[in-house]
Amino acid sequence: MTRQISLGSVKVGGGAPISVQSMTTTKTADVEGTLAQIYALAAAGADVVRCTCNDQDAAEGLAQIVPRSPVPIVADIHFHVEMALAALDAGVHGLRLNPGNLRKPEEIKLVASEARDRGVPIRIGVNAGSLHPELYQRFGGATPEALVESARQELAYFEEVDFSDVKISVKASSVATMIAAYRLAAETFDHPLHLGVTEAGPLPGGLLKATAGIATLLAEGIGDTLRYSLTADPVEEAKAGRQLLEALGLRERKGLDLIACPSCGRAEVDVIKVANEAQEALSALNIPLQVAVMGCVVNGPGEARHADLGIAAGRHRGHLFIQGQIVRVVPEDEMVDALVDEAKKIAAEGVAARLAARDAHAEEEAAADRALLLDDKGLDANRSNERIARIRRRGES
Ligand code: SF4
Repeated sequence: MTRQISLGSVKVGGGAPISVQSMTTTKTADVEGTLAQIYALAAAGADVVRCTCNDQDAAEGLAQIVPRSPVPIVADIHFHVEMALAALDAGVHGLRLNPGNLRKPEEIKLVASEARDRGVPIRIGVNAGSLHPELYQRFGGATPEALVESARQELAYFEEVDFSDVKISVKASSVATMIAAYRLAAETFDHPLHLGVTEAGPLPGGLLKATAGIATLLAEGIGDTLRYSLTADPVEEAKAGRQLLEALGLRERKGLDLIACPSCGRAEVDVIKVANEAQEALSALNIPLQVAVMGCVVNGPGEARHADLGIAAGRHRGHLFIQGQIVRVVPEDEMVDALVDEAKKIAAEGVAARLAARDAHAEEEAAADRALLLDDKGLDANRSNERIARIRRRGES
């Protein structure tokens, strides 16, 4: 178990829920624009938001943003010690220092002392792309060992001024390097770790790279907070972080989890179109439900019986089901509306009440649809039994 730090009201490490972070892309001096983005990030699942503090105007902006933000604010400091001190004056809940950029020991210790006196934690944010040149040379590149050594050196400066309210990141754009670096960091430090694949890039590749690195480590029990670094609207970063944690069962579901079958030759409807329409209509409701869109009534309700709510298509009708039990049969063009309507009712009345209110004839009608479909297509759609019989006959002759 790692130590625990507090970024304002958000605890990180020491068994606290894994938190999601993202970073604003607005100029921090643009207070209203930055706050609007922070609100959007918080709504999408960010627990903590980072803003750059790169000049005096940004620091002054932070002084107005911090008290109005719905989530704790971390200031990102690159080269200037004055900006770290100004961000502390602005009242930020955390600082991020890059040891490769802010290199003078006396400046590092000054910031750590000021943070210590105010009870503000610092992230030692090592980045393979901006590793200190001396370490790059000594280790023959930005190796996992070099990244961890950079964090260790910074931590040693902090300890000289009796400051240990720290979390650590050792990011690289190479997934393999990042995974190895974090594994080594987890063995080396007992401070909380902030996970990320730096410069992961645009969607969808960036999402894949970041997920490969972050999910691998989380599955090993490594990591206390995370950020997806995507070349995209930061709202996508917050959404991705939240969805990953929900998918791994590390955070409770906050919104919609839409599952859909991949579709196949049995599909009775355009699953991709219906799933997209359902995703759009249901996302807006912000109801914590798992909803399934299944292409056929023969296999759909059974395969998705774990979903809270779902719909399966068959013979131009939709079979609406709750936890695998058919509750209504609706015309195909009303499938999405029926899902939305039922999702709202489940949110208001609960699953048990909605199951009790099901249409008494729904299961009968659904069974008739299934029987007709099986007649149409045959139980052995791939004619496997027929082929096997032929093979056996050949074997006997
Ligand atoms: S639910 Fe039906 S359409 Fe969808 S993949 Fe399964 S068998 Fe195919």
